[in-house]
Amino acid sequence: EIQYLEGKQPDPREHRLIFKNVDRVGWDPSIDCYLNDGGYEQLKKAMDMDPKFITEEVKKSGLRGRGGAGFPTGIKWTFIPPNNTKPVYLICNCDESEPGTFKDRYIVHQDPHQLIEGMVISSFAVGAHVAYIYIREEFPEAAKILENAIEEAREKNFVGKNILGSGFDLEIYVHRGAAAYICGEETGLIESLEGKRAYPRIKPPYFPAALGLYMCPTIVNNVESLCHVKHIVDMGGEEYAKLGVARNTGTRILCVSGDVKKPGYFEVEVGKVTMRELLYDMCGGPKDGREFKAVIPGGSSSKILRCDETFKIKGKDGEETDLAFWDIPMDFDSLAACGSMAGSGGVIVMDDSRKMSWVLNNINQFYAHESCGQCTPCREGSTWMRKISDRLVAGEASPEDIETLESVAYQIDGKTICAFGEASSWPVEAIIAKYREELLADTKEENARKPNNPEAEAQ
Ligand code: NAD
Ligand code: SF4
Repeated sequence: EIQYLEGKQPDPREHRLIFKNVDRVGWDPSIDCYLNDGGYEQLKKAMDMDPKFITEEVKKSGLRGRGGAGFPTGIKWTFIPPNNTKPVYLICNCDESEPGTFKDRYIVHQDPHQLIEGMVISSFAVGAHVAYIYIREEFPEAAKILENAIEEAREKNFVGKNILGSGFDLEIYVHRGAAAYICGEETGLIESLEGKRAYPRIKPPYFPAALGLYMCPTIVNNVESLCHVKHIVDMGGEEYAKLGVARNTGTRILCVSGDVKKPGYFEVEVGKVTMRELLYDMCGGPKDGREFKAVIPGGSSSKILRCDETFKIKGKDGEETDLAFWDIPMDFDSLAACGSMAGSGGVIVMDDSRKMSWVLNNINQFYAHESCGQCTPCREGSTWMRKISDRLVAGEASPEDIETLESVAYQIDGKTICAFGEASSWPVEAIIAKYREELLADTKEENARKPNNPEAEAQ
C-alpha cells in the first residue's frame, strides 16, 4: 500500500491516478524511482500499437482537456489534416498561470517522468518527432527537473533516436516562457516559441492542429491531459471512460484555495463529488465563525457562483429542474449548465468576510496587467474596468460607474482576438449581475479599499 507524507494523506474520496506519487513516502523524481514503480511500461506497450489505435483509445476514453476549455483530446488529435506532408509538433502547455490553479507544477516537480512518458506516447500517436514543453518562466526549478528527466529518459532510450527499437524518433525540448499570462494562450504560446511577442492569433478558421508552430500542424495539450494518456494506454479507453460520469470521464485535479479550513489539491473522479462534498467534507468547511459566500469554480476566468443560488437545469427531454449550488457535481457539463465552467480546476472560495468590490478589483487588476494590448476592446476595456473598480474600493465610485463598468464588460465580451477578452469580462458581468446591491452600497462607503478580512486588517 502506498504511504503518503504526514499531513499529506489523500482524502478517502479521492481517486489518484495522476497524483498517485505526489507526496508519496520514499518518492523522488528520478528515473530509477519511476522505473521501480512500473514506469515506462505503458510506453513499451504503446510502441507495439498502431498510432491510430492509440488515438482511437484516447477518443474512446472521452478525455477532455484539463487546461481549461475541456475540448476532447482525442478529437483534437484527429484535426491534423489527413493529407499533411509537413512536420507535426506536440507542445505541452506548462505555462500554468490561471489564478487559483496549482496542479501541473506538482506533477512536474514530483513526477516528471509521468509527463515525459505521456508525451512520448502522445507524440507517437500524432506523428510528432519534435515536442516542446513550454514552461512558465516563474518555474525555474521545475524547468531544471524536466531537463534532467529528459536526459535520464534519453539514456534509457525512451527519448531520442529509434525509441526502444521501434524506429520512432523524438526530441523533447524545454522552453522557458516569457513571464506573461498570455503566453499560456496556445497561439500566443506558439508565437512566443517562434521567438516573437506572444500576440495570440485569430482562431477560427485555423486552429493549431492544422496551422500551428512554423505554420505546421501542432497539437497543444496541457500537462495533466498528457499524463492521462499514459493511464488510458494502461487501462484501455473503455475502462478509463468508466471513471467519472457520462461525457465527463476520468479523474481530475481540483485545486482549492481561499476561505476554507483545509485548502489543497484533490484528485477526484470527474462529476462524482459535489460542491458540498468538496468544500465541507474534503476541505473542512468554512473558517470558524464564517459562512461561505461565493465560489469561482474553474480559475479566475470562470463566472462566480453564489452559494445561495439555485439553477434551472434543462434535461435531455427539455424539462427544467432545480439544482442548488451545493448539489452541483464538479464536472464540465454541470458547471456549464450553471452558467460557469469547470475550467482549469482552480476552485477559489470566498466567505462572508469578502467584499465583492474588493474581489472584483482584485480580478480587474490582474487582467488589466496581463492584457497583451493587441486589440482595442481588451487593452482599453480591461484598464477602464480596473480604474472604475479602483474607484469603487476607494469609496469614490458613483452608482453610474457600476453601469459603465457593466457596459464596458459587454463591449469586450466576444469582440476580441482571443478568449482573454471573455476571461476579463465574464467575472465583471457575473459579479455585477449577482452582487449589484452590494456594489451599489459600496459606492457610498469610505473604507471599501480594505478587504474587510479581519486577519488582513490585523496585520
Ligand atoms: P478553445 O475552446 O478555443 O480551444 C480549446 C482547444 O481545442 C484548443 O487547443 C483549440 O485549438 C482546440 N479546438 C477548438 N475548436 C477546434 C476546432 N474546430 N478545430 C481544431 N481545434 C479546435 O479554448 P482556449 O482559448 O484554447 O482556452 C480557453 C481556456 O483556457 C479557458 O477556459 C481557461 O479556463 C483556460 N485557461 C487556462 C489557464 C491555465 O493556467 N491552465 C490559463 C488561462 C486560461
Ligand atoms: Fe491580447 Fe486581449 Fe486581444 Fe487577447 S483579447 S489578443 S489578450 S488584447
